Amino acid sequence: MAEAVDVLVIGGGVMGSSAAYHLARDDRAGSILVVERDPTYARSSTALSAGGIRQQFTLAENIRLSQASLAFYRTIGEHLAVDGEAPAIGLNAQGYLFLAEAQGAAKLAANVAFQQHHGVPVEALSPAALAARFPGLSTTGIALGAFGREDGWMDPYSVLQAFRRKARALGARYTQDQVVALERQGRRVQAVRLASGQVIAPGTVVNAAGAWAPEIAQLIGMALPVVPVRRMAFHFLTADRTLGALPLVIDADGLWFRPEGAGFIAGKAIAGEPPGYNFAVDYDYFETTIWPLLARRVPAFATLRLQRGWAGLYDLNTRDANMILGPWDGEVDNFIVVCGFSGHGLQHAPAVGRAVAELILDGRFTTLDLSALGFSRFARGALPREENVA
Ligand SMILES: Cc1cc2nc3c(=O)[nH]c(=O)nc-3n(C[C@H](O)[C@H](O)[C@H](O)COP(=O)(O)OP(=O)(O)OC[C@H]3O[C@@H](n4cnc5c(N)ncnc54)[C@H](O)[C@@H]3O)c2cc1C
Repeated sequence: MAEAVDVLVIGGGVMGSSAAYHLARDDRAGSILVVERDPTYARSSTALSAGGIRQQFTLAENIRLSQASLAFYRTIGEHLAVDGEAPAIGLNAQGYLFLAEAQGAAKLAANVAFQQHHGVPVEALSPAALAARFPGLSTTGIALGAFGREDGWMDPYSVLQAFRRKARALGARYTQDQVVALERQGRRVQAVRLASGQVIAPGTVVNAAGAWAPEIAQLIGMALPVVPVRRMAFHFLTADRTLGALPLVIDADGLWFRPEGAGFIAGKAIAGEPPGYNFAVDYDYFETTIWPLLARRVPAFATLRLQRGWAGLYDLNTRDANMILGPWDGEVDNFIVVCGFSGHGLQHAPAVGRAVAELILDGRFTTLDLSALGFSRFARGALPREENVA
């Protein structure tokens, strides 16, 4: 016998849990079941994220998602407190700094103007201004910086647990199981089969399986332009304690670093990294590529002490690096996809989860209009590419 559930969410990471929370707080949602195969979240992108949040995007929709989500994170206790206890997510607004060399300076200046037009508190800084504001940072080779003073980072695991805890407190159920098959009849998913043998008859299915979302979509023949791609992060200590006031820095070559506890975390995407479920940590890459770049930008990093590295997955949208949100238009009506975040999902989770709930409960977006981010855009030629993706 299939169990009837109003909304079945596949994947209980930050997206699935934000969607579950935004649904559960509305009486119209009915029963909500989140199927998560690994409640330790050992390989979930959320738990392996760097936690950055910034408003400096090149697509207006992404800026609006950040603005709405930052407002939510700043007031998280008003939304996600359980039994009067507000979650601690470690939101740290030390700022977010993009750097450009001469050839990228005009583009960075144009981005700043675009973002300011959309209400983002971001300012362009000359090398002299950068050196004055961020002692310890070398401006060698740098022509311009763009500093978002409201932005920063938070603790991803705490964010996930905060959404999950509140969703459950409001009545959403979580089950440890794996979705192995979807049965489609006409324009509906009729049944969802779990590894345990349980069968669910869903009202609506939300595919929030992150880097595994393309596999889930493929179960009903939907081809998403999303691939799993490894991204590594490394934690190190440095003797210079004054550096802890630095913002999150995205260097001109894609190197990123930010303070973390008594040290820093850093990373840089490998050019041409092949898609795949690769969780191996390449310490040679840190030694030969990342460390020299770190020491060039912050000379005190020449004597850093590496602690550990880890690898997680981006759900990379190969077409335009933007998320994909909504049903499979014209094909399957009760299957909502929410994936393709290409490295900026954690920061957008509050506004995206709210948008998922709107689609299901109202049949349309009622706050932010995210209709440009639907799957049907690929048939129309996709969106302008989001350029600020590391
Ligand atoms: C190294 C790194 C750094 C990052 N830095 C940032 C950053 O600074 N800022 C930012 O905003 N974002 C960042 N991201 C991206 C961000 O982490 C993701 O966009 C976001 O966490 C995606 O959340 P999700 O819930 O969609 O995916 P996930 O957290 O991966 O959750 C998906 C869940 O689905 C489950 N699942 C999969 N298949 C099945 C199945 N068949 N049945 C049941 N369950 C299933 C998985 O177990 C998983 O828990 C980073 C990512 C990485 C890897």
